[in-house]
Amino acid sequence: MEKVDCVVVGAGVVGLAIARQLAGTGREVIVLEAAEDIGTVTSSRNSEVIHAGIYYKAGSLMARFCVSGKRMLYRYCDEHGVPYRNCGKLIVATSAAETEKLQGIRAHAEANGVEGMRLLTTSEAQALEPALACEAALLSPSTGILDSHAYMLSLRGEIEDAGGALAFHTPLLRARAAGGVIEIEAGGEQPMTLACRLLINAAGLDAPAVARRIEGMPPSHVPTAYLAKGNYFSCSAKAPFTRLIYPVPEPGGLGVHLTLDMAGQARFGPDVEWVDRIDYTVDPARADRFYPAIRRYWPALPDGALMPSYSGIRPKIVPPAIASQDFVIQGPRDHGVDGLINLFGIESPGLTSSLAIAAHVGELITS
Ligand SMILES: Cc1cc2nc3c(=O)[nH]c(=O)nc-3n(C[C@H](O)[C@H](O)[C@H](O)COP(=O)(O)OP(=O)(O)OC[C@H]3O[C@@H](n4cnc5c(N)ncnc54)[C@H](O)[C@@H]3O)c2cc1C
Repeated sequence: MEKVDCVVVGAGVVGLAIARQLAGTGREVIVLEAAEDIGTVTSSRNSEVIHAGIYYKAGSLMARFCVSGKRMLYRYCDEHGVPYRNCGKLIVATSAAETEKLQGIRAHAEANGVEGMRLLTTSEAQALEPALACEAALLSPSTGILDSHAYMLSLRGEIEDAGGALAFHTPLLRARAAGGVIEIEAGGEQPMTLACRLLINAAGLDAPAVARRIEGMPPSHVPTAYLAKGNYFSCSAKAPFTRLIYPVPEPGGLGVHLTLDMAGQARFGPDVEWVDRIDYTVDPARADRFYPAIRRYWPALPDGALMPSYSGIRPKIVPPAIASQDFVIQGPRDHGVDGLINLFGIESPGLTSSLAIAAHVGELITS
C-alpha cells in the first residue's frame, strides 16, 4: 500500500485551496477527484461573485470567512493574474417597506466587518445605473466578480509546483481510520489503495456520503444532505448595468438578481428549488417567475429575452424549513477520528471564502 502524508478528496475550489495550503507548507499532498477535471461540479455552477459578507449571521463561519476570504481572494487575484472586477453591487428597494429594511441590512453588514456600505436615494442610484427603477438602494462597493476557472487553474498550478499531485477519475470508495493512519481505497480507471496521516473530505455535495464510507467515523456526526437547486437564465438583450443588482432579500433566498460574467454578459438567478436528485436541466417555464421579479428593478426587460442557461445545486445540510445554515468544518476534536477533517454544507459564499477556509483547515491541523 502506497503511503502519502495528506489526501484531499475533491478538486473543487475548496479542495484545491486546501491542497494548495498544505502543499505550500511542504506537506506531501494528493488530491483524489472522481470527475475528469478540476471544478466540474458546484465550483463551475455558481454566480462567480466575490461576496462582501453582508447577510450572514454575525459571528458565523460564513460571515467571518466571507469577509476575510474576500480580502484574501482579491489579493490572490492581483498577485496571480486571475481576472476579476471589483464592480460593486446595488441592493435595490422597490417599495416603502423594502426601503425601511435597507438601514438594517447596512447595520448588519457593518457588524460583520463589511466596509464602505452606502445608502443611496433614487437619483443617486440612477446616476450610477440609469436603467434602474428603485425607491432607494444600498451600495456594496467591495462586491465583485472573478473568472473562477482561472482561479482554480492557478490553485492547481501552485499545488503541482509545490510537488502535489491530482488523480482524476479516482473516486474515494471507502476508508478505514485506526491508530492515526487512514487507509483509503480509491476506484476508477486506476484503482489504488493509499495510507495517509491526514484525510480532508472536501467532496461538496457528496461530503456526507464520503464521511459515511469512512469506517471509524461516528455516523451521528454526519449530517443529512439536502439539495437546493438554483436555476439561471441568460439574457438575449444587452443589460445596461455595470454593477450587480440584487433585490432586497426575501425569506429563503436572495431573490432573482442580476450578475455579470467577466465578458459583461448578464445572467439572472439563482432561484431556489428543493430537489430530491441531481439534475441540472433548467425548466424554461421557470422564466415566468423571473420576468415580474426582474421588471421591478429593470422595467425595460424585453419580452422573450430570458433563455434557460445553467443550474447549480447548493450542498444543504438543513431541510427547507430551516432558513439558514453555517459551514461545518469538523476536526478530530469534533468527531474523535485522528487525521480526519470533514467539510459539510459549503454552499455560497464558499467560492469567496475558499482561501479563508483553507487557512482555517491549516490552523486545525497544527492546533
Ligand atoms: C447556485 C449557486 C450559486 C453560487 N454562487 C456563489 C457565488 O456567487 N459566490 C460564492 O462565493 N459562492 C457561490 N456558491 C458556492 C460555491 O459555488 C461553493 O461553495 C463551492 O463551489 C464549493 O466548492 P467545493 O470544492 O466544496 O465543492 P465542489 O465544487 O462540488 O467540489 C467537490 C468535488 O468533489 C468531488 N467528489 C465527490 N465525491 C467524490 C469522491 N467520492 N471521490 C473523489 N472526489 C469526489 C466532485 O467530483 C467535485 O469535483 C454558489 C453555489 C451555488 C450552488
